[in-house]
Amino acid sequence: MLFDKPKKSFFGKLSEKISEVFLGRTVDEELLEELEEVLITSDIGMDTTMKIIGQLREDVRKQGLTTEQQVKDRIAGIVESLIDKGENHQICQEIPLVILMIGVNGGGKTTSIGKLANKFKQEGKSVLLAAADTFRAAAGEQLELWGERVGVNVISHHEGADPSAVIFDAIQSAKARHIDVLICDTAGRIQTKKNLMVELEKMNKIIGREYPEAARETLLVLDATTGKNAISQAKEFGEITDITGIVLTKLDGTAKGGIVITIADEFNMPVKFIGVGEGMDDLKEFDPAEFAGGLFN
Ligand code: GDP
Repeated sequence: MLFDKPKKSFFGKLSEKISEVFLGRTVDEELLEELEEVLITSDIGMDTTMKIIGQLREDVRKQGLTTEQQVKDRIAGIVESLIDKGENHQICQEIPLVILMIGVNGGGKTTSIGKLANKFKQEGKSVLLAAADTFRAAAGEQLELWGERVGVNVISHHEGADPSAVIFDAIQSAKARHIDVLICDTAGRIQTKKNLMVELEKMNKIIGREYPEAARETLLVLDATTGKNAISQAKEFGEITDITGIVLTKLDGTAKGGIVITIADEFNMPVKFIGVGEGMDDLKEFDPAEFAGGLFN
């Protein structure tokens, strides 16, 4: 089962909390209000909760839902319709592909790059990493460690170097070696939003100019355990660059899985991968139907 790890935390808890509210009661306005409370305290944002409860209220009226199981099934159905962004959940299958990884420090960016590199390698694709977070001293070393672990090369410059120069070199190297997937780390300095925006713009320009034939992805890495902070990061990063998908990390051992629903709904950004551990195999493709189906089963 794809979601066996998160299920123990968020999934099990949400189901339990709803059962506690129910306790054989009939579905009336008071119960719906209590369910609303449960969703909000499960880290599902206010607007998204309102949408879910609003739709549920209508369905209760129209379809005469009465039992706990019927209500849970209905919530799962509504959630699925909110988080399903169609085909967009899959990472781009074209090659060559350039992936820019963005997100704040500590969110799991480097680890996710290592996991992604491993995944592509297992699919038989060649991978190259670019250490374009030249701001943080340890970032390059950390990426090199992942490169060694997974068995892929890393292009890096010295600390403080121009990140775009790293990208430029990585592209030349990727082209010369006929690399399938180039994954680029970037600095996570959302505090200096303007600088980061300029830096990302420059990188995007260089990729577009030097490697126009490459398909593109920009993945935002968010730490699920930070709950509402992850939501505000989605907003901030969404303002500075175009994001094609989310990698939601640390969904193991957290009761905050509700942010999957909020991010997908409020920002219209497809979740593409979830991180469920620290190992190189602990990255799962996100499947909205499976996520929604796992909520109460
Ligand atoms: P970065 O600063 O964004 O590059 O973050 P790192 O990749 O260094 O990750 C920060 C910490 O989070 C490390 O201790 C990772 O092992 C851990 N981490 C990353 N992804 C996951 C995950 O999916 N689950 C768990 N439990 N830990 C993770």
